[in-house]
Amino acid sequence: MHTPLCRHATGEPTEYAARAVELGLTEIGFTDHSPMPRDDFDNWRMRSDQLDEYVEKVRHAQREHPQLTIKLALEVDYLPGHEEWIRELASRHPWDYFIGSVHYVSDSWDVDNPAKLSEWNSRDPFEVWSVYFERLTMAAASGLFEIIGHADLPKKFGHRPKQDCTPLYERFLTAAKKTGTAIELNTAGLRKNCREIYPNPTLLDAAFRLGVPITFGSDAHAIGEVGMNLKDAIELAHSIGYKHSLRFTQRRAEVVPLFPS
Ligand code: ZN
Ligand code: FE
Repeated sequence: MHTPLCRHATGEPTEYAARAVELGLTEIGFTDHSPMPRDDFDNWRMRSDQLDEYVEKVRHAQREHPQLTIKLALEVDYLPGHEEWIRELASRHPWDYFIGSVHYVSDSWDVDNPAKLSEWNSRDPFEVWSVYFERLTMAAASGLFEIIGHADLPKKFGHRPKQDCTPLYERFLTAAKKTGTAIELNTAGLRKNCREIYPNPTLLDAAFRLGVPITFGSDAHAIGEVGMNLKDAIELAHSIGYKHSLRFTQRRAEVVPLFPS
């Protein structure tokens, strides 16, 4: 879940926590968009000098809601060549986990950015998918992340390739399996034009076959989105065959049985 520091989310962590308690959730995690090596890289993340403030906001939520487990984490952009920067971020605070996400298929195009929607007009979806999954495979192979975020993000606005993407999925998932990296079932997709949880059932089915573990996320950018459609995500996991998910504390995994649907 996110915080106002990323400049496109509303509501303070302690308010998200209050909502989680109201919903009967027992554990939540904050994974705001990580800073980039250059603060002017884009306009949808915290600045590097705001990282301490971010941690303090999460600590504040923890103090205000002792009955709730609140994880301190980050959603970290993966771009090839950023590995050293990501390691430096990792050393700055005692994080519970890193979600590694690919939003950028080049240094200038974040495929999920509504301001760059017209970019899709001149692109072949399969070409975008190919670059995206190549980067996602590198992210999974890097071992820098506990979880890979929204594993088929390019579908967000409804663009989908006609070609079979299974080989792209399998290359990515094989890398994830090798490094023990999980993928998340992210319900934000249900709120976008694609109207589907990230990732799609074909990818998720391949993940199950290859033994890639899962986690759950709402990707909340507003108080009302906390825990949104969690039941649907659990149902989807069950339908694929998953019996367990993972939880992370201080970057160590623990297997959790999926509660019955
Ligand atoms: Zn965001
Ligand atoms: Fe993201």
